[in-house]
Amino acid sequence: MFPKRLVLLFTLLPVALQGSLLHAGSARDKALKASYTDDYLRLKKRITDDFAARNPAPMTPVDEPLARRYSGQKLIALTFDACSGRNNSYNEKLIDYLRAEKISATLFITGIWIEKYPERFRELAADPLFEIENHGLLHRACSFAGEKRYGVETVSKIGDMVDEIELGARKITEVTGRRPVFYRPAAAYTDSICMGVAQALGMEVITYSLLSGDATPKVPARVIRDNIIKRARPGAVVIMHFNRPEWHELEALKEAVPLLRAKGYSFVRLEDFTLKGE
Ligand SMILES: [Zn+2]
Repeated sequence: MFPKRLVLLFTLLPVALQGSLLHAGSARDKALKASYTDDYLRLKKRITDDFAARNPAPMTPVDEPLARRYSGQKLIALTFDACSGRNNSYNEKLIDYLRAEKISATLFITGIWIEKYPERFRELAADPLFEIENHGLLHRACSFAGEKRYGVETVSKIGDMVDEIELGARKITEVTGRRPVFYRPAAAYTDSICMGVAQALGMEVITYSLLSGDATPKVPARVIRDNIIKRARPGAVVIMHFNRPEWHELEALKEAVPLLRAKGYSFVRLEDFTLKGE
């Protein structure tokens, strides 16, 4: 469930937004159902039936499934998530900095963020510096056991996992013409069942290997900077956010990037990683 404050916010949203995925509760379900085309429902049923026939165990948590593979070269993938579609959920200065410094990055974006910022989304998607990947339709964590992380809503039914992953991917593809190849669930938390569902939909789950610790306004820039510098390894996948201007990623990167470059590291998008790292 959404926190109470959010539910209140949704209740207060103008009638004009009805039908949008930003809505909670039954209006959100209605909006979801509006995306259920016949071909989509067939796909959803096929995957749900497939997984129902399997033994659901083991539901092991999955860490760094992709990051582990790349260790040969001094390449680092900076990844930035855009999670909720609240007001003031775009860190423009951070994106400007990445552009000015020509830092390639991967952006994991939710369907609700795309709905809230359609113009920004188009701009980011048109910029070859950035790779756009799937952060789910409604920013729900994905765990068959229904485990929660950081208080975010979790999908545990296979059908809801398909909604979260596939409809998020379709939302991106509608605008970019490119289907995402990676999926990062909300809270970067998942298990082997959810990974299997993503795989059945043609996407690889990626969490992270380097936790920047950016995800609260209370963490000062120096802590994020030190986390990045101390934990940097060839093949690291760094998790940060670009939807919270009040957090301190920008100041941290302004110091960490020159230091890492001096040590011979360069920054790549995840898809470049796959090509160069193997
Ligand atoms: Zn997120």
